[in-house]
Amino acid sequence: MTVRVRFAPSPTGYLHIGGARTALFNWLFARKRGGKFILRIEDTDQKRTVPGAIEAIMDGLRWLGLDWDEGPDVGGPFGPYIQTERADLYREWANWLVEHDHAYKCYCTPDELAEMRQEQMAKKQSVGYDGRCRHLTPQQRAEKEAAGLKPVIRFKAPREGETIVPDLIRGDITYQNKQITDSVLLKSDGLPTYHLANVVDDHFMQISHIMRADEWINTAPLHIHLYRAFGWEQPIYAHLSLVMNPSGKGKLSKRTQAFTDSGQQVLVKVSEFQEAGLLPEAVVNFLANVGWSFGDDVEKFTLAEAMPRFELEDINPAPSRLNYTKLDWLNGQYIQEMEPLALAQAVKPYLDAAGLEVNPEALLAVMPPMSKRLKRLPEAVEFLRFLFDDAPFELTVEQATHKHMPREAAQQAFRQMRDLVAAIEPYDAETLGQALMKLGESVTANGKAGPFLGTARLAMTGQKVSPPLFESMVALGRERSLARLDAVLALFEEIGD
Ligand code: GLU
Repeated sequence: MTVRVRFAPSPTGYLHIGGARTALFNWLFARKRGGKFILRIEDTDQKRTVPGAIEAIMDGLRWLGLDWDEGPDVGGPFGPYIQTERADLYREWANWLVEHDHAYKCYCTPDELAEMRQEQMAKKQSVGYDGRCRHLTPQQRAEKEAAGLKPVIRFKAPREGETIVPDLIRGDITYQNKQITDSVLLKSDGLPTYHLANVVDDHFMQISHIMRADEWINTAPLHIHLYRAFGWEQPIYAHLSLVMNPSGKGKLSKRTQAFTDSGQQVLVKVSEFQEAGLLPEAVVNFLANVGWSFGDDVEKFTLAEAMPRFELEDINPAPSRLNYTKLDWLNGQYIQEMEPLALAQAVKPYLDAAGLEVNPEALLAVMPPMSKRLKRLPEAVEFLRFLFDDAPFELTVEQATHKHMPREAAQQAFRQMRDLVAAIEPYDAETLGQALMKLGESVTANGKAGPFLGTARLAMTGQKVSPPLFESMVALGRERSLARLDAVLALFEEIGD
C-alpha cells in the first residue's frame, strides 16, 4: 500500500505545539514507509480564518524541518491544497448525496433551530437536529424555495445500529448510531463543513492513513458513514494521545499562548519555542517523546534515527504530559554538540539584540566552555556580558580576597598574575592554565589553586556565572586582561594598608 498521510490544519492563527506533534508523527510515518506527506489547509470556516496564518503554519513546519511533498506552495497531483479553492468539488458531491438519497436539503432557519434546541432541553432530550426536513414533500420543498429560503444540505445519518471505528492506536471503538445527528455538510453559502470537505479531500487525495488529534475521534463514525454512502474505501484511523499540561491537569490544546503551570513556563506556539532560543532539533526530539518512545531508554535522538523505528502501533493512547524540564535538558545536549562556529552564529542575533558588539575571534574562544553550560541560546547574553564592557562591574576588596587568600596575599597574588600575563607566551588557554594553576597553589594558605582561580575569575569577568578563567582571558585578549588586573591592583592601592 502506498502510504499517503496529511496534516490538515485550519488557518486560525499560528502553529500550536500539539499540531506540530501531529505533523511530526505523520511526517515520520510517511518517511518511514517511503510515502508522501501532504499539507492541506482546511479553511472552510472562514469566520475563523486569520490572515497570514497559512504562512505562519508553513514557517513553523519549515523551522522544525518537517518538509511536505504536496501542499499549497509546492502543488502536487491532487491540488489545490486549500479547501476554499476546491468549493465546486464539495458542492458536486453534496448534490450527489442528495440525488442518491443519502442527504437532504434542510430549510430550517436559525430561529427554528434555536427553538428546537430549547424544547429538547426542556424535555431533557438529547440535543441535536431532529431530522424534521428529512421527509418534506416535493410540494413543501417547492414552497420553501419559493419563499426564498436558502437550504443547507444535511446528511441522512442512520438511526439504528452501531458503528465501529477501527483505530490502529486504540483498537475498535463502538458508537451507537443514534448518537450521530444529521450533520450539515454544505452550508447555505455553498461552502462545505469540515466533515464533507475532510472526507472528500481524504478520498480524492488518496489518503491512506488519518493520523490526527484525539479531539477528532468523535467525528469518525459520521465520516465512516459518509465513506459508505459515497461507496469509497475508508482510510485507516490512528488517533493520537491527548497532550496534557505539565501538571497533568487540563488539555494543552485549550491554550493559545505561553503560560505557567506547576512553576514551569509552558510554551504553546511553535514560534514561542523559536523565540525562546530553543533549537528545532531539540523541539522535534521533545515532541517525538510525547506518546511515542524510541526504546532502549533512549531519550535523545535525531529524526533520522527515529524514522526507521517509527510504527503507529507503538504510539501510546494514554494522555501524555509535556515535560519542559526535559526539553531544556535536550536543548543543552544539542547545544553541546554544536561546532563553535555554528554556536557563535546562533547566539550572535541575541548578542546583537542586546546591543553587544561581537569580535568574532573572542566569541569563538569562549564557545567550547560556554556550550557546556547553556540550556537556551539567549542565556549567552548574560554569560558573555563581561566581554563587551570594560567596566561592567565594581569589584570590592572582599570579592578580591578569600579565606585562604587574605588581603595581603591576594594583593601579592594579583601582582604576580599581572607580571605573568604581561610576559606569557603563547597567550593561550592551555599555557595560561598551567601557569596560573601553579601560581594559585603558591599563593593560598591551603596550597590549593581553587580559591585563587575563583577570585581571579570574578576579578576578570565580574560575573558569578561565566566561562572558565583561562578561556575568558583568551577571549578578552592580553591587553584587556592586563587592564582589568590593573583595576584590581588599583583597588588594593586605594584602600591602602
Ligand atoms: N482541520 C482539522 C484541524 O484543524 C483537521 C482534523 C483532521 O485531521 O481530520 O485540526
